[in-house]
Amino acid sequence: MRKLVNISNRLPVTIGKKIAKSSGGLISALEGLEGKLDLKWVGWPGGVISSDSRQEELSEKLAKEYQYYPIFLSRTQVNDYYNGFSNTSLWPLLHYMANYSRHEERWYEAYRQVNRQFAEAVLELIGSDDMVWVHDYHLMLLPAMLREARPGLSIGYFLHTPFPSYELFRCHPKREELLSGILGADLIGFHTFGYLRHFRSAVLRVLGMESEMNKILVDKHQAKIGVYPIGIDAGKFLRELESEAFRKYRAKFDKVYQDKKVVLSVERLDYTKGIPRRLDAADHFLSGYRDKDNIVFIFICVPSRGEVQEYQDLVERVEKRISEINGRYSTLGNVPIHFMHKSIQFSQLCALYSRADVAMVTPLIDGMNLVAKEYVACQQDKNGVLILSEFAGAAQELFNSMVVNPYDIKQMSESIGQALELPEQEKADLMLPMRERVLTYDAAYWADSFLGDLAETVKHVEQKGWTEPLDEKVVLRILRSEKLGLFLDYDGTLCEIKTKPSDAYPHAEIKELYEVLMARPEIDVYLISGRKRADMDAWFSDYPFTLIAEHGYFYKMRGFSEWVILDPRADLSWMDQIIEIFRHFSGSTPGSSIEQKTSSVVWHYRRSDPEFGEWKAYQLMGELMEMLSNLPVEIHHGKKIVEVSSTHINKGMALEHFLQAQGYKAVVCAGDDETDESMFRLDHEQIVSIKVGDGETVARYKVPSPKELRDFLIRALG
Ligand code: UDP
Repeated sequence: MRKLVNISNRLPVTIGKKIAKSSGGLISALEGLEGKLDLKWVGWPGGVISSDSRQEELSEKLAKEYQYYPIFLSRTQVNDYYNGFSNTSLWPLLHYMANYSRHEERWYEAYRQVNRQFAEAVLELIGSDDMVWVHDYHLMLLPAMLREARPGLSIGYFLHTPFPSYELFRCHPKREELLSGILGADLIGFHTFGYLRHFRSAVLRVLGMESEMNKILVDKHQAKIGVYPIGIDAGKFLRELESEAFRKYRAKFDKVYQDKKVVLSVERLDYTKGIPRRLDAADHFLSGYRDKDNIVFIFICVPSRGEVQEYQDLVERVEKRISEINGRYSTLGNVPIHFMHKSIQFSQLCALYSRADVAMVTPLIDGMNLVAKEYVACQQDKNGVLILSEFAGAAQELFNSMVVNPYDIKQMSESIGQALELPEQEKADLMLPMRERVLTYDAAYWADSFLGDLAETVKHVEQKGWTEPLDEKVVLRILRSEKLGLFLDYDGTLCEIKTKPSDAYPHAEIKELYEVLMARPEIDVYLISGRKRADMDAWFSDYPFTLIAEHGYFYKMRGFSEWVILDPRADLSWMDQIIEIFRHFSGSTPGSSIEQKTSSVVWHYRRSDPEFGEWKAYQLMGELMEMLSNLPVEIHHGKKIVEVSSTHINKGMALEHFLQAQGYKAVVCAGDDETDESMFRLDHEQIVSIKVGDGETVARYKVPSPKELRDFLIRALG
């Protein structure tokens, strides 16, 4: 059985005199996995409970009866973390409503503090083999906080809202913090591929971090990303359709709305739901509809976020618009808009879903929209029509709905007319496959597939091939061998990668390591780099190390002042041709540049737009492969560079040369990118290889960062 600590802003309870368990998508999804899941839940129980004794009593009760662990919030926290940062700063931006989004620094402070409060509660609770699953925009910082405290913990994160385009997300003053927070997770889930795509692009452009289609390499772990469209609790709806209460309400509505066409809208009264525009469409439709006695638009608008000003304004606006329309189109026998600003009972909701001729679900933007799926599930007679906004996540799945643009009033109005005219058989043919889908891919399926993938992610990390985390004892023993050669790459290995290569000069910590190495003259130290001789001379000539430049083309023995070509037979006649192609690409790629070395040419695109640069680099790679197949060159696509060098030259050959020439009994080599793999691939038992950072490698050991390598070498040799 899987052990899960589930974490969401709200616990699924309402605290009154008694504790009432609430229903909802998430709780039913997880309870649907009963028997497969040992579930604990951390969240805010709602309201403000300030008395210590009451908090204690509730905590005890919730833990004992439900395995729920409450996070109590103060009035200020509710205001700043919940109403402020979550619902006034983040929610509108995630929903493309930047004009509604406001930011106050103290809201963010509260958000951070509450996320921290959640982290502490979770850390106290988790056992060694528990997984945690963090939900939604209220807790974006939590995954990284948990990761920092417990690096080995298996953490899932699901965003229940859309993730907007980078152009919008970049507007948020805390964009870096929010993205880095989410990236603490091992698996990050979204409802649609569009949201996933936007998230990747924001991570690339805001944090400068590359990603693959399904994963992002974060500092010390991989964050997988995936698409998991949430479903509804299908069983609950099917059971309700069989109930006495449902039958009673359905009979009642059949009578009340006898001979009337019913167009139903159900949602929280939220500005993302597009209610004013839908009213415009109803207005437009009614203006041309003859049978005004026999049509009713029912708007069930559940009150929401009444403390936030924008929501109060919306209520006023909607009420005003409805009274205008009703004033205009009411007859003595009919009032066309039936508006309820309240919740209704579940049996009533199902009866309305099942009776309605048309459901109009036309949000301006919506992460998923469960109402659309619930309407479909309740269509046991299969004679309803769903009009669905193309901006709802559900539109990706409910392919037989009438998909509309909620900004196009005329189109929405015409769709109502078409829906009402559709022949019975056609309606059934459209509804049946959608209903099957909704009933099959339900909430439990969603939770099970996410948690299954999370468990897999973790297993995958555990089953790494032959490369292991650095075994300090083993490497230490080798470093103590007699006749030792130490081959160290520089950029990305001893020094952190910098945007400007000239900024990567040896800083204090690198100098400290050099001091340690100088105090051990019996060890032969080689700095082996792709850099040019001039860089190496400028930075390293004061040290008693052998320098190897341009991936092994030149070397300068320690104590000597002359650079020597390692293999004078290397053919470099291809260079002019390559420079010509590179010039062409530099011209068409703003921010890119050419670096000419003696034995290779490099095209740099670090300062170009990241996506455009990558795209051009692939194009360049394609052209080079085609043109250069007969030349003695290697093409290498590295970190923001494309490099063409002679096949006669690589770091592995240089290492091999010195290994033979000096007769080393042991060699330790370290590097961070593909050019270093030629050293790692050498098959001699006296060589131990260390890869720095993430990525595929054949090296024996791995360390996460240059700092960790430096610290280890200082400890080992100092
Ligand atoms: N709903 C409710 N009370 C009502 C009417 C609707 O609780 O009186 C439920 C509805 O059944 C649905 C949820 O509210 O499950 C709305 O979810 P949706 O994904 O459509 O929108 P959200 O409110 O999450 O933005």
